[in-house]
Amino acid sequence: MTNYDYDLFTIGAGSGGVRASRMSASYGARVAVAEELYLGGTCVNVGCIPKKLFSYAAHYAEDFEDSAGFGWTVGERRFHWPTLMANKDKEIARLNGIYRNILNNNDVKIFEARARLVDAHTIKVGGETVTAERILVAVGGWPVVPEFPGSEHAITSNEFFALPDMPQRVIIVGGGYIAVELASILHGFGAQVTQLYRGELFLRGFDKDVRTTLAEEMTKKGLDLRFKTDVATIEKNGDALTVNLKGGGVIDADAVLYATGRAPKSGGIGLEEIGVEMRENGAIMVDDYFQTSVDNIYALGDVTDRMQLTPVAIAEAMVLAANLYKGEKQVMDYADIATAVFSNPNIGTVGLTEEEARARHGAVDIYREAFRPLKHTLTSSQERTMMKLIVDPVSDRVLGCHMVGPDAGELVQGLGIALKCNATKAQFDATVGIHPTAAEEFVTMRTKVPEPEADPA
Ligand code: NDP
Repeated sequence: MTNYDYDLFTIGAGSGGVRASRMSASYGARVAVAEELYLGGTCVNVGCIPKKLFSYAAHYAEDFEDSAGFGWTVGERRFHWPTLMANKDKEIARLNGIYRNILNNNDVKIFEARARLVDAHTIKVGGETVTAERILVAVGGWPVVPEFPGSEHAITSNEFFALPDMPQRVIIVGGGYIAVELASILHGFGAQVTQLYRGELFLRGFDKDVRTTLAEEMTKKGLDLRFKTDVATIEKNGDALTVNLKGGGVIDADAVLYATGRAPKSGGIGLEEIGVEMRENGAIMVDDYFQTSVDNIYALGDVTDRMQLTPVAIAEAMVLAANLYKGEKQVMDYADIATAVFSNPNIGTVGLTEEEARARHGAVDIYREAFRPLKHTLTSSQERTMMKLIVDPVSDRVLGCHMVGPDAGELVQGLGIALKCNATKAQFDATVGIHPTAAEEFVTMRTKVPEPEADPA
């Protein structure tokens, strides 16, 4: 028992902050958490959860179409944005309540206010001044919109999830997770979507076959993908927006949505003043134990800008709480973390991309299949699924699994376990498939993709 008001004071009640707080409390620590916005943070309120609900909603457009091939006649179809919004808001309010209960049930004191550090052990929060032996900064990130003439007319994912009306013509800028997910969602709802990306091909960092497959599939569905394209200015004319492109070209839209990354939200809470070291973008620097340059101050989740993923923040929180209050000395393992992009079709991926594998291992064996899923033999859909395995020819270990296709995220989660167990291609081959599924392809691929021709240069 210390002389401080709390053993741990957490700033930010998002995925990481809530988990760290409640686990620490469950191990006997006296814990408080401050949250100025919404319990559950980005994931629950303006991220993963509403996005996935919207993704389900958007997919009905194709499901209704596809049903015709199976003998169904579906009546008049009309999408009503306010209904989805209201139902989504209701579900999020329920989740906010669950987070509140989790904290209350673990005796974590909640301050619904902005917290600011006065010194390394003192926090001003909601008109009170409290002290804590340790402080955890888990304040997450915030969307970034670059500044240019008219950038104030752009919205981000934050505003998107609160729009009273659905925009009919939308320009989405960016080529990361959020951009492809929201582009797919809005297209499903019937909006005319143009996605602009400054580079050669979107989803930089993903496997090249994943990137090209998704670009082809999204284009086939009718999205207007424009690469090597960026915005010069946005002009507002009444309710409409005119986007002038760098290098010429004009597009009119009802909304311009920027999904150009998220920055750590570390500013203005007193961290600089007490000497917590940060990178130029505001990311708090931490060691393997989430300790910052100030001994009793810790940080995890998006504010550290390592892997901006909810399950990563939660896993980090579990490690931190166990280390601080359960006497353990765990280190978070960031290898082979499976991830999904809820574009249409979905992406599921775990392990190395082909490019990473070649860079690390030299020669690698590639197995790849692209096929029309069984379901679409009776529909008019031209959607194809792509699956790919990357294998180390020396150890036979499977280094990476990638998929573009329905439920790719659901499917790749299990492969994440296999990779954690260092599964070999021989063990994949020895696994009997489940027929008829798309998943069985992952255990039946036998033919290596021929090595690419050596570059004559
Ligand atoms: P990302 O970092 O994934 O992508 C940002 C995109 O914006 C990149 O394509 C980048 O291009 C482009 N960009 C950056 N700056 C500019 C600029 N000034 N002008 C034009 N384009 C620019 O960020 P997101 O916002 O999509 O998502 C943030 C993070 O949230 C993700 O990295 C992910 O970790 C997480 N997330 C996870 C999800 C999931 O698990 N399904 C869903 C949504 C988000 P370039 O490639 O050239 O740098």
